[in-house]
Amino acid sequence: MAMLTINNLEVYYGIIQAIKGVSFEVNEGEVIALIGANGAGKTTILHTITGLISPKAGSIEFEGHDLTKIPAHNIVSLGMAHVPEGRRIFQELSVFENLKLGAYTRKDKNEISETLEKVYQRFPRLKERKNQIAGTLSGGEQQMLAMGRALMSHPKIILMDEPSMGLSPLFVSEIFDIIKEISDNGTTVLLVEQNAKKALSIANRAYVLETGKIVLEGDADEMMNNDSVKKAYLGE
Ligand code: ATP
Repeated sequence: MAMLTINNLEVYYGIIQAIKGVSFEVNEGEVIALIGANGAGKTTILHTITGLISPKAGSIEFEGHDLTKIPAHNIVSLGMAHVPEGRRIFQELSVFENLKLGAYTRKDKNEISETLEKVYQRFPRLKERKNQIAGTLSGGEQQMLAMGRALMSHPKIILMDEPSMGLSPLFVSEIFDIIKEISDNGTTVLLVEQNAKKALSIANRAYVLETGKIVLEGDADEMMNNDSVKKAYLGE
């Protein structure tokens, strides 16, 4: 059964329609890639799921909850974490303080410490730099911190917006290895990416978004061999 179901979503900015009837679903345990060019509407979809934007029409159901009726600040408690585009970490705070804030919806101190240890295991670089001011981290390290902070809420599903943006190829590979690991450890992933090649390499299924509409969907390996995807998104 689907964990997250988006049905006929329509989103406007003023009179401009950014999302034109989008439907898709994410099953438990999957990595789903939402790919598309700049401005296709990927970020808008994530912001609508997490309650930052209200849709004009359509439904968003997460484990039986109608997310369009739940305020953004309560959505994290349901088990949904968002790693926003451009990371949005707290620049002035330390790595450790950023991570601690990621657990703001949780109460049990022992459980929080356990999660912190797991995050440090997955990101040894964050452990080494736990007292460093986050704004002085490199771009790749900030991406790791944003992912670590999201994991601190112990999410069932993690929504990632362009994790590869602005990173060197080496860091991009490392970040994608980590996303795969997060998925292997049982967290469902909805991944929004312009880097279609990398996204398809770790995804189970994918949806291609063009100017607010889904124009293609299927298994990630089929997509990788699809001629129009190759031409438009894989640079072949
Ligand atoms: P990117 O990778 O550049 O973020 P995207 O696929 O995530 O692209 P969106 O940011 O969702 O695309 O934008 C979808 C469309 O909505 C674009 O045409 C964009 O110009 C428009 N848009 C986004 N935010 C706003 C806003 N606050 N006001 C008006 N139009 C907006």
